[in-house]
Amino acid sequence: MNKENSINNFNWSYATALESSDHIKLQERYELFINGKFVKPLSKKYYETQNPASGKKIANIALAGELDVNAAVNGARQAYNKTWKKMPAKERAVYLFRIARMIQERAREFAVIESLDTGKPIRESRDFDIPLAANHFFYYAGWADKLDYAFPNRKVNSLGVVGQIIPWNFPLLMAAWKIAPALACGNTVVLKPAETTPLTALKLAEIIRDCGLPPGVVNIITGFGQTGAALVNHPDVNKIAFTGSTEVGKLIQHATAGTNKKLSLELGGKAAHIVFADAAINQAVEGIVNGIFFNQGHVCCAGSRLFVQETIADELISKLKFRMESLLVGDPMDKNTDIGAINNKVQLDKINEFIKTGIAEGIEVHQSSCDLPKKGLYCKPTLFIGVAQSNRLVQEEIFGPVLTIQTFRTIEEVIEKANNTNYGLSAGVWTDKGAKILQLSAKLKAGVVWANTYNKFDPASPFGGFKESGFGREGGVHGLIPYLNF
Ligand code: ADP
Repeated sequence: MNKENSINNFNWSYATALESSDHIKLQERYELFINGKFVKPLSKKYYETQNPASGKKIANIALAGELDVNAAVNGARQAYNKTWKKMPAKERAVYLFRIARMIQERAREFAVIESLDTGKPIRESRDFDIPLAANHFFYYAGWADKLDYAFPNRKVNSLGVVGQIIPWNFPLLMAAWKIAPALACGNTVVLKPAETTPLTALKLAEIIRDCGLPPGVVNIITGFGQTGAALVNHPDVNKIAFTGSTEVGKLIQHATAGTNKKLSLELGGKAAHIVFADAAINQAVEGIVNGIFFNQGHVCCAGSRLFVQETIADELISKLKFRMESLLVGDPMDKNTDIGAINNKVQLDKINEFIKTGIAEGIEVHQSSCDLPKKGLYCKPTLFIGVAQSNRLVQEEIFGPVLTIQTFRTIEEVIEKANNTNYGLSAGVWTDKGAKILQLSAKLKAGVVWANTYNKFDPASPFGGFKESGFGREGGVHGLIPYLNF
C-alpha cells in the first residue's frame, strides 16, 4: 500500500514499512510487582488496557487497592532498612549499570511494546524513549558512589521510601527518570505508572527481578488515580515525585502539605517557540514541527505557542503548511509514521473540544489534508493563526498536535507575551544572533530554553519548571537533590 500526500504538485509516496511485533510475548494478565515477585492484587481486581491505534484489548492489568499499596510500601521499607541503606554505594551502582545494560539488550522489544501501549510512532520509541531510558540508568549509576563529590563539604543522606507517580506520554523514560536517581541516592521505590500505559514499567520489573536487585528495592503497582492517591497519603512514604497534570499536581501538593514528605512536581507546559526574522527559516520550520507535531504533541514541553516576527510571518506560515502536508499520520508501527495515535479517548475528546471551540470562535484554522485511519484515536495536525493572547487556546495546555500562531514586532513585546502564561517549563528561540539568545534565555521564565533546536534531551542536563509547571529538577546533578537529605 502506498501513502500519498500532495500539495503544489509535490508528491511524497512511501511504501509501508511495518515494524514486526512477532517477537513480542504479551501476557493475558499482568500482576503487581512487590518484594521482587509478581503477585496477585489483594483487591482481586483487574482492568483492561487497549491499543489506541486499533482499539483492540492488550491485557488485563492488576488494580492495586489500599492493601496492595500498603504491601508495596512495607516491602520498600524493609528493603531500605535491611539492605539498600547499608549497601556500599559502589555496589548500588553495579545494579544500576546492570539495569541499563539489560534495557539495551531488550531495546527492540521495549520499543515495540511502548508503541503498542502509547500509540507513539515506533521511530520515536526506538530512537528516543528507550535509548534515553537506558542512558539515565547509566548516568545515575555513575553518580551513586560520588555523592560526596557532587555536593562537596556537605553530608548527604538518603530519604527512605519514595513514592513515584508517572504519566502516559513517556512511560519507560519517566520510570527511568524517577527510579535511577532515587536508587543512586540510596532510596527504595514504589512506582505507579499511568493506567493506560503500564506495560513497559512491568517489563522493567522483569529486568529488576532478573538483575538480582534485592527484593523490595523497587516495587511497581498499577491502577488509576485512587491508587496514586493511596500512595501519596501513605504515612510511611518519605517523598513523592510526580509527573502529570497541573490539576493532579495541586491535589498532591495539598495532600502532602503539613506532612514531612518531600515533594517534587513536573507538571504541564505551554512552551513558546519564538522565531526572529534573522532565523534560518527552514531549520525553524523543522524545529516547530518536531516541537508540536511529532509525538502527537503529547509532550509537557511541546512548543505549542508560536511567536513569529511580523516581517517573516507569511513566509514561515506558508512553509509550515507545506511541511505539514508531508507529515504522515497513521499506524504507530509503521517506520514512516510521524504522528501516531492519541493515547486515550479522554485526551482525544479534550483536544477535539479545543479545536471545535477555536473554529466556533472564528479563528483562522488550518489542518493537514491527510486522511485519518478509520479505526483508532487520531488527530490531524492543526494550526490556529492570529490568536489573541487571552484566548483559551493560548492559555491552556491542549496536549495534542495543535499550534497557535501569533506575531510580534520587538524583543520586549515577545518576552512579555511568552511569559504571559501560568506555565514555565520550556521555550525555543530561533535567531542568528547569539546576543538575542542570551537575552532571551535570561528573561524567559522557563526551566529549559532551547536555541536553534528543540526537544533535545540528555541525562546530564536538568529539566523542570517554573510557576505552575512545578518544582524540582530531573536529570543532571540537580536531579539528585530531590532524593537526598542535606
Ligand atoms: P495526564 O493528564 O498525564 O493523564 P494525570 O495527572 O491525570 O495526567 O495523571 C498522571 C498520573 O497521576 C497517572 O499515573 C494517574 O493515575 C495519577 N493520578 C491521577 N489522579 C491522582 C491523584 N489524585 N493522586 C495521585 N495520583 C493520581
